[in-house]
Amino acid sequence: MRNCVDVATDYESFPVWAPKEISESLRKQGFQYTPGNVKASRSDIDPNEVSYEGCSCVKQSCEVDCDCLRRFNPNYTKSANGKTTLIHIDDHVTTSNSPPPVYECNSMCKCGYQCLNRLVQNRLQRPILLFEGNKGVGAKTAAAIDRGEFVCEYAGEVLSDVEAAHRCQRLSADDMNYVIAVREHHHGGNMTCTYVDPCHRGNVGRWVNHSCDPNLVMVPVRADSEIPMLALFAKKNINAEEELSFHYGGLADEEISEQNVKRKQCLCGANNCKGFLPYDLSLFANVMTT
Ligand SMILES: [Zn+2]
Ligand SMILES: [Zn+2]
Ligand SMILES: [Zn+2]
Repeated sequence: MRNCVDVATDYESFPVWAPKEISESLRKQGFQYTPGNVKASRSDIDPNEVSYEGCSCVKQSCEVDCDCLRRFNPNYTKSANGKTTLIHIDDHVTTSNSPPPVYECNSMCKCGYQCLNRLVQNRLQRPILLFEGNKGVGAKTAAAIDRGEFVCEYAGEVLSDVEAAHRCQRLSADDMNYVIAVREHHHGGNMTCTYVDPCHRGNVGRWVNHSCDPNLVMVPVRADSEIPMLALFAKKNINAEEELSFHYGGLADEEISEQNVKRKQCLCGANNCKGFLPYDLSLFANVMTT
């Protein structure tokens, strides 16, 4: 790519091309590219700890008799055109059905890196192009993507709820808020929340803008750690050079207060645009009690 720099350097299997002005501005901000989640300096949550048992399949790819697939059910399928897609993409798109949790083979598993049950952990599947638009920096796909295909993770520093609230509080009205809060309701009534901030250290997910009518959906995916990778999958077919977007409100639509002054205007241009970016009220509520 002429006049472009790969801001992912050697961390991804495919480049993240950015015009020189964007890469120069990232360098000035002191931004560090990391392909996956990292531990925040003031946090004891380590997203790289291995917490699950592996399977003993000494083969390229796990099949039906695999312990992982028996325990958690298969997640991915290869379509006739050779593309790997998420089996339960419909359930993740509609949110009215509760989709099964996604667990991939992990570093304790004996299977190969190309195992069908390893996808998100293998990172980018195609190059991404960064560009400067009316919403600031955005991300486009270099190649067409089929519905259900994995696109990229939203990775960065994993924060505690207290640290996430502190970081959001410190932002001024003009600052871009990158902190995302993802709530998961588990079987048995447990609820967990994962906070990821790619502002200072993060991956390409940082440049995927919000849209009220997005082409990606966020799915928590686990391999080694109980802390999920926040994986973005295509919820529709996407053309080459099309801008990538997801809904910042996360998996569930949060109740949002209309009068809060901190809300930013949404410029997604979709027919159903709500006019404002969503944000997680709990990040602000927590500050009051700490
Ligand atoms: Zn496997
Ligand atoms: Zn296996
Ligand atoms: Zn396995």
